[in-house]
Amino acid sequence: MKKISRREFLKNTGVAAGAAVGGGLLLSGCASLGKGQTSPFGDKPDPTKLPEKWDLEADVVIVGAGAVGLPAAIRARDAGASVLVVDCNYDIGGHAIISGGNVPLGGGTSWQKRDGIVDDPEILYRDLTDWSVTTAQGMPIYRYNERAIHRVMADNMAPCFEFLLENGVRFAEIPIDNSGANGTGISALREAHTRWTEGASLESPSGAGGTMLCRDLEATAKRKGVKFILNYHMDVIFRESLSSGRVLGIQASYTPTILPEATVPLQPFLTEGNIVMDAPNITIKANKSIIIGTGGSSSNPNLRRIVDPRLTEEIPGAASEFSPQDGSGELAICAIGGAMWGIMNQGMERGAQLLASNTVGVRHNYPNCRWDTRTPIFPKLKAVGFIMRDWQNAIMVNQVGKRFYSELAGFAAPSASSYGYYDNYGGYVQHDWRNSGKMPFRPNNYIAAALAENEGSQPPDYSAGPQWAILDSDGVARQRWEIDNPDYGHPEYFFKADTLEELAEKISANPYQKHRMDGQTLKTTVDRYNTFVAVGRDEDFDKPTPQYRIEKPPFYAAWNTVMLHDTYMGVRISGTCQVLTLEGDVIPGLYAGGECSGGANAHGLARCLTQGYVAGYEAAVTG
Ligand SMILES: Cc1cc2nc3c(=O)[nH]c(=O)nc-3n(C[C@H](O)[C@H](O)[C@H](O)COP(=O)(O)OP(=O)(O)OC[C@H]3O[C@@H](n4cnc5c(N)ncnc54)[C@H](O)[C@@H]3O)c2cc1C
Repeated sequence: MKKISRREFLKNTGVAAGAAVGGGLLLSGCASLGKGQTSPFGDKPDPTKLPEKWDLEADVVIVGAGAVGLPAAIRARDAGASVLVVDCNYDIGGHAIISGGNVPLGGGTSWQKRDGIVDDPEILYRDLTDWSVTTAQGMPIYRYNERAIHRVMADNMAPCFEFLLENGVRFAEIPIDNSGANGTGISALREAHTRWTEGASLESPSGAGGTMLCRDLEATAKRKGVKFILNYHMDVIFRESLSSGRVLGIQASYTPTILPEATVPLQPFLTEGNIVMDAPNITIKANKSIIIGTGGSSSNPNLRRIVDPRLTEEIPGAASEFSPQDGSGELAICAIGGAMWGIMNQGMERGAQLLASNTVGVRHNYPNCRWDTRTPIFPKLKAVGFIMRDWQNAIMVNQVGKRFYSELAGFAAPSASSYGYYDNYGGYVQHDWRNSGKMPFRPNNYIAAALAENEGSQPPDYSAGPQWAILDSDGVARQRWEIDNPDYGHPEYFFKADTLEELAEKISANPYQKHRMDGQTLKTTVDRYNTFVAVGRDEDFDKPTPQYRIEKPPFYAAWNTVMLHDTYMGVRISGTCQVLTLEGDVIPGLYAGGECSGGANAHGLARCLTQGYVAGYEAAVTG
């Protein structure tokens, strides 16, 4: 990575180096703030005790270079501010770069008009606050959406789309549809797509569609003079006092790799213009404002369990091996008077929020994001996982070795806002009380069963534990899995044994398996299932016509635990993304958006990009 000179750094950016060492920006040995202090903050620095010196400064400091951070940076820079973006990962992009790149921005975009789609901010606003839409579980998706936030969002989604076009984002030249993401209503087609067809590479950490969205924005931001510092994790936001006053800057700690398992040095793709530092801690002064766009808390069991106690540590957060979603933005904001908000939204089983996946044999089993051997982060993961082509080839058991639902039930019950159910309502009429009655009510689903049954759970957390797919050698053959290729099954998440008793012992050694699986229980489960195959009827869970006995050794177990997709709760913000206290007061100079913010029961990029678009401008102009 190139170390840029002080002059180069200052040129055209307005970003200042407060205490650069030796003429360059490679800083080392900065004092670790607050060490040895006795304070309510423990090892963490007191956010009201300002550092003796600032290492860097900029008008607008942005934490997180994902769907919020990238547009925010460009907007703030366009408004004349100097901008510094800090990210803890080795590369920019966060979840946005590994996302599908399906961008449901509506409200009357030029592409919607091109395609003759009727939409405007009013239609969009009424969609985003339509109390009458529910999922099949009976969850009202938009009912608890904060009105102030969605008013601003509805007014700014179309301008945000035009902004993306103006700033170089290349959407596929296909008609607007509703075929990948969801969460911005069902009255009009709203979705454009960035497509990446060249596979995984350094440029594209996972080969996913979001690559173009993020690389295009990154390139524009850098061209316009935005500066990036990677591998630094924001730990503290400094504020004048805990209950009043402005925010003044941040402290961040060096994170050369985001997971300890990494065995190769990971490098960003576009290194030009990145500020390179390796001091253990750095401080950055924000002359005007700070924007927190750190993503959600899907990998932080303590935060996610505020609203759903079932989400204990065995449940992986989607793609957390790439960007961790550790809730650090929310924690730092709450430490200076901010408040969590809209947490009800996180507790809803709203469809795709909790996923059961067809990828098995690895802990991170995100269905359409398999980290194959060509990805830069493969060494962290060690395996790709297997695709379960047909659940007739396997049964699924819980941590005690018992089945809990039909394996063919698959994902959660249909969600009204998801693309596949776009037409579920037939004659959908905005805000019509009859809408919810048109959705078939299916409160039970595979995920509810997997997590809520809690069989064999133990104190202190009483976790439901992992779920395991169990197959015999005939099942594996039908699946056509390359079981001897170590790139597929992870040694701690994929096991082979000559007997079911031995298989249960191996499962029991998994670090997330808190309960020892009794081999006899597993054997009883398999024997009973085999009797269902014989009669062609699953008496326990109504799996449609069970087809294959599980009887020919060796036997296999593959991790397939439910996972958490993204976060729908976070800190309290205003419509214009200013962070608010529990009393409703603005914390001056502090903005937040995207998955770390609350008030929106909305999946994905449309909300995050729009909030970045809004926050970037406000941070630079209002401050
Ligand atoms: C596999 C996958 C596919 C998806 N596909 C789609 C899709 O097709 N369409 C759609 O609408 N949505 C999709 N989503 C959701 C969407 O990508 C996210 O909702 C969105 O990117 C969140 O934006 P964000 O800015 O809040 O967080 P992110 O985009 O995750 O960015 C947060 C950034 O902050 C950094 N960070 C975190 N903590 C710190 C810290 N303390 N200090 C410094 N940096 C920090 C992270 O490293 C990361 O780079 C997908 C998500 C996943 C996981």
